[in-house]
Amino acid sequence: MLSERTDMGGYTLIENASLANRNTLRVDARATLLAEIRDAGKLPELLDFPAVRNGRLLVLGEGSNVLFTGDFDGTVLAMETRGVQVESDGDSARIAVAAGERWDDFVRWTLGHGYAGLENLILIPGTVGAAPIQNIGAYGCEVAEFVESVEAWDTRERRVVMLDHAVCAFAYRDSLFKHEPGRYIVTAVRFVLPRSRPLRTDYAGINEQLARMGVDKPAPFHVAEAVVHLRTSKLPDPAVIGNAGSFFKNPIVDAALADALKREHPGLPAWPQPDGRCKVSAAWMIETAGFKGFREGDAGISNRHALVLVNHGKATGQQLWALAQQVMLGVRERFGVILEPEPVVIGAR
Ligand SMILES: Cc1cc2nc3c(=O)[nH]c(=O)nc-3n(C[C@H](O)[C@H](O)[C@H](O)COP(=O)(O)OP(=O)(O)OC[C@H]3O[C@@H](n4cnc5c(N)ncnc54)[C@H](O)[C@@H]3O)c2cc1C
Repeated sequence: MLSERTDMGGYTLIENASLANRNTLRVDARATLLAEIRDAGKLPELLDFPAVRNGRLLVLGEGSNVLFTGDFDGTVLAMETRGVQVESDGDSARIAVAAGERWDDFVRWTLGHGYAGLENLILIPGTVGAAPIQNIGAYGCEVAEFVESVEAWDTRERRVVMLDHAVCAFAYRDSLFKHEPGRYIVTAVRFVLPRSRPLRTDYAGINEQLARMGVDKPAPFHVAEAVVHLRTSKLPDPAVIGNAGSFFKNPIVDAALADALKREHPGLPAWPQPDGRCKVSAAWMIETAGFKGFREGDAGISNRHALVLVNHGKATGQQLWALAQQVMLGVRERFGVILEPEPVVIGAR
């Protein structure tokens, strides 16, 4: 099927656009209209076209945290803006980054320029603009700790807004943006990064990997190298097999259920939370329920990591979603725990 491209200066419009190369699960979905945005200043003009204004809107970064269960009958805004600007520097720096920058490129840029903080978050796919949406986290760190403010186009008020850290309501894989879907188009994120800080190495094998590397006084780039090694040895690469990273969140359950689960299943990893509740391992439950490596047609659960839903080839979004729901049902029947998907599930209307 042919797609028509029109360069509008600052953005390009593509009708009937394929999204197959724009989501890491490699689902072959299409959008009625795709806008590749290189200049965020053009957003008001674009959003004013009647077809855009009156239809559905979806902002897309690299598509590494979405599952399309059908074609998208509306406008997809692909953020492709670029720019990293150091606004002030000293013991710590204030750095404004355009939403379309690749997250991993930015992390490597910070390490190359001697800033600390983001080393544990290296190699997470996606764009800078998407990082605050689900408050990306890995290896004991979350991006929220370093976000001073988020600049966005508010589609309700039709103006640029600057949302301070407190307003963003960051929590585990959660933020304001998830609770008001579609309202904000993130155009830039402002970070505050120190020149040095205590390193977080006591998590998920980092210390052990540093020891294997022969490093006894680690700097941030050593920690980053250790995390790269750990991530590449555990997670399937979307360039090799379609996936969206962890498809299921670790559920946070109340203390009574956590106690009962631990009595019945002593092997279940559990992490007490500051509010008295307990985060329990979704991977352990999925594996114990027998789904690790399970496959139905081209939809499957990775045999390397039980949290990862994979597309072995030509699975449709509906097939992947059906398998995910089967896993959620299986875990609920076996453990009485409700799993939630981490990616945004986007259906046809
Ligand atoms: C192999 C792999 C490993 C991963 N590991 C991790 C991990 O360790 N930790 C972790 O937290 N995540 C992880 N993820 C998930 C993913 O990388 C992150 O959620 C990432 O932030 C998504 O970025 P994206 O640009 O691909 O967003 P997309 O998938 O394109 O979008 C995700 C959501 O954010 C919204 N969005 C995107 N950009 C904007 C914007 N500019 N303004 C408003 N809304 C926007 C979209 O509408 C959608 O709702 C992993 C994914 C993969 C494939």
